[in-house]
Amino acid sequence: MARAGCAPPRLDGFVLTERLGTGTYATVYKAYGKKDTREVVAVKCVSKRSLNRASVENLLTEIEILKTIRHPHVVELKDFQWDSEHIYLIMEFCAGGDLSRFIRTRRLLPEKVARVFLQQLACALKFLHDHNISHLDLKPQNILLSAPDNPQLKLADFGFAQYMSPWDEQHVLRGSPLYMAPEMVCRQQYDARVDLWSVGVILYEALFGRPPFASRSFAELEEKIRSDRAIELPSRPPLSPDCRDLLQRLLERDPRRRISFQDFFAHPFVDMEHAPGPESFPKASELVVEAVRKDQEGDASAALALYCKALEYFVPALRYESDPRRKEAIRAKVGQYISRAEELKALVTSDSKNLLQQGSPAREVLKEMAKDKPRLCAALEVAAAAMARQSLRGGGGSCSTPRCRP
Ligand code: ADP
Ligand code: MG
Repeated sequence: MARAGCAPPRLDGFVLTERLGTGTYATVYKAYGKKDTREVVAVKCVSKRSLNRASVENLLTEIEILKTIRHPHVVELKDFQWDSEHIYLIMEFCAGGDLSRFIRTRRLLPEKVARVFLQQLACALKFLHDHNISHLDLKPQNILLSAPDNPQLKLADFGFAQYMSPWDEQHVLRGSPLYMAPEMVCRQQYDARVDLWSVGVILYEALFGRPPFASRSFAELEEKIRSDRAIELPSRPPLSPDCRDLLQRLLERDPRRRISFQDFFAHPFVDMEHAPGPESFPKASELVVEAVRKDQEGDASAALALYCKALEYFVPALRYESDPRRKEAIRAKVGQYISRAEELKALVTSDSKNLLQQGSPAREVLKEMAKDKPRLCAALEVAAAAMARQSLRGGGGSCSTPRCRP
């Protein structure tokens, strides 16, 4: 294992400082580059002895591939080096620590916070899935946070597990059985679907403050893993029906009956379509351009529907944007669209009862803006009510998304 032989490693071009953590296969150090920029990085030190099944050469090829992968919710692998004993991975430094610590210090997370993290995790998994990469060792310790404030989730430690059996030569389980799918622990055949089980465990732990198989003894743990009883969800804290449904479908012991990747990405609680991401703002802008066109053509009803649909993307766009100046610019633009939507609403209908739906994305914008723009909030409330009314009538282009249904 790396932990004994790896400290303190010497690395070309970097000065290694404090130890950031020790995981299943490696020790990770904070480091900075010796060049002028003094770039801060994390260096992961993997002992070659911990690799089995595949040759080190295959792993190095895989690392070359991982180096080309770039995603806002995946820890960037910047470079790598190796010597006779170790492989050193030079990675983006994540100053917010890992999700395990984040949950522990808060005891549990409100559903809304857990959902934002889940959406970010789903974005990362979708990206890896599209690149044919499974994680196979998903757990809160492998999910890092970019910064202590406004943290963005960053998936770490992927792409290696396939080279590392969960069992070592002495048939000792390496990882934590708390997060591993039962089929993995019981040494049956397993595949990418184990990642979905682990997502279920992570979501469960975030919401209830402990993983579903938390036990006081190994015997109890083993019994829980080997049992064929369905996983029971605690009744407190109360969760939305969508959230409960997703948890139950992820934590299905039989991988053949577990939710599929496609259904997971499309699940209304995950709602990838409206997850904060680099696409949120372009999508919102595209819809607004169309809304303006319809507006100019005098089609008030279609324009209103498009403005409302655009707002569903502006919510995540605001959340995704980390630059305060750009964030403010988006807020200002949204304010203009809301004002116009309000005018259009007055044209389209006279009775404006508040049909604003709980959990509607437009309501989220409203809340975000409530802090400093009460007038705009009132305007959005009207626009959102109009959207809800259209939805109830079953008409209007804005009502095709699941979240818009009555
Ligand atoms: P292992 O493969 O041994 O499990 P990990 O990559 O999971 O190693 O790293 C172990 C721990 O080190 C993590 O749980 C985390 O606390 C810390 N860590 C790993 N990578 C980083 C990073 N890029 N930035 C900050 N901390 C990190
Ligand atoms: Mg790890």
